[in-house]
Amino acid sequence: MRSFEATVDGLMGGLRADLERLAAIPSIAFPGFPAGPVEEAHDLVAGLLRDAGVPHVERLDLPDTAPVVYGEIPPPSPDAPTVLLYGHYDVQPPGDAALWRSPPFEPTPLDAAESGLRARGIADDKSNVIAHLGMLRAYEGRPPVGVKIVVEGQEEYGSAFDGYPPTDPERFACDAMVIADLGNLRPGTPTLTTGLRGAAEVTVEVRTLDEPRHSGEFGGAAPDALLVLLKALATLHDVHGDVAVEGLRREEWDGTAYTEEEFRSLAGVREGMPLVGSGSLGERLWSGPAITVIGLDAPSVEHAASAVVPYARAKLNLRFHPRQDPQEARGLLVDHLRALRPFGVPLTVTPGDTGPGFEATTGGPAYRAALAALREGWGQEASYVATGGSIPLVNGLAKAAPGAEVLLFGAQDSMCNLHAPNERVLFSELRNTVVALCAFVREYADAFDRSTAGRTQGGTA
Ligand SMILES: [Zn+2]
Repeated sequence: MRSFEATVDGLMGGLRADLERLAAIPSIAFPGFPAGPVEEAHDLVAGLLRDAGVPHVERLDLPDTAPVVYGEIPPPSPDAPTVLLYGHYDVQPPGDAALWRSPPFEPTPLDAAESGLRARGIADDKSNVIAHLGMLRAYEGRPPVGVKIVVEGQEEYGSAFDGYPPTDPERFACDAMVIADLGNLRPGTPTLTTGLRGAAEVTVEVRTLDEPRHSGEFGGAAPDALLVLLKALATLHDVHGDVAVEGLRREEWDGTAYTEEEFRSLAGVREGMPLVGSGSLGERLWSGPAITVIGLDAPSVEHAASAVVPYARAKLNLRFHPRQDPQEARGLLVDHLRALRPFGVPLTVTPGDTGPGFEATTGGPAYRAALAALREGWGQEASYVATGGSIPLVNGLAKAAPGAEVLLFGAQDSMCNLHAPNERVLFSELRNTVVALCAFVREYADAFDRSTAGRTQGGTA
């Protein structure tokens, strides 16, 4: 069995240099930011893949999105499986530059104890693009599996690319995919993400009066729209802080989760504040629902007049179990709100966008290969988690290649300040991810030779 540790250690200097080059490009694909750097990052990634021996590298120009890097290495034999590797080269805007300890687009070594680099996008998701590259270099462009590599350029802003794969299934046909846009529960703990909660938005509004009315003259009898709304919102959770909307799926979480201490520190929960909800953290964060009030229209305290409020509105964000149907989950929240009559007042409830959750099928050959590979990369057993966020493209890819196993792992970790100031990546995580990717394709190619079930079941060939 080939071990990759020495090979990968020897590649790390070059990978680090390429990561620094890539992270120095402010490839922000948001409106109002220049397109030049996005193009530049695209071209750099395409060039790196070509130099790593990918024989076919193509630029996909689709409407309403940044160019996608698409590369292909044909399978070394007709029996070998094809693995699709995913990452993205665009990044979040840096936010307030004053909060950064070094300029966001000047990759800077971390101080003291940790060995890694700080820059916007260096973890999310440029580290994983470089990890894929590292695997290809370790095999000198000839891995034991067929490879399709997809590196998109507008993941962070939201992109029309999410819906594209099912319209071009031939291109995305594969036996397994590695979605490397996440990483470990904590540095040093290899983690396979097996679920992503779904999301839905709902707006609720209350109109009780034509206009504000003097609270001295009318308060006490005129219906206050803001109080009506607050009473409605107060019914969404029980006294413990658990979601009280009937029918939203909640199950025990049997994987690993954060310790309470880790979670408090990650969330920045203030000293003395309790956490809300009951049950394990995994259940509260991953296999149960959450409802957050993400916006509220009401008079501000600064501009408060002594008047009964005629109109108020709130926007709710619902997160639901990975396997619950989005329409069903959103419908449960909508029905709950529509059935309420706080002080006898009905509410206007408007359903908003939904995004499906995702749950990986576990137990297949690629899944077992990934577990073995993560063990090899980090030297310990892998944990499972389900993150709260969603990666819309995963569902598009899964639709395009319905028989393919989907694996989510990568070089990020929960402490790397994604989307926040001072984003960082650790070299240890990057190196271990490259080792794991190398081991994964080796393990999977071996397993696939023994059983070709994966290809026939999905009809993706
Ligand atoms: Zn990302």
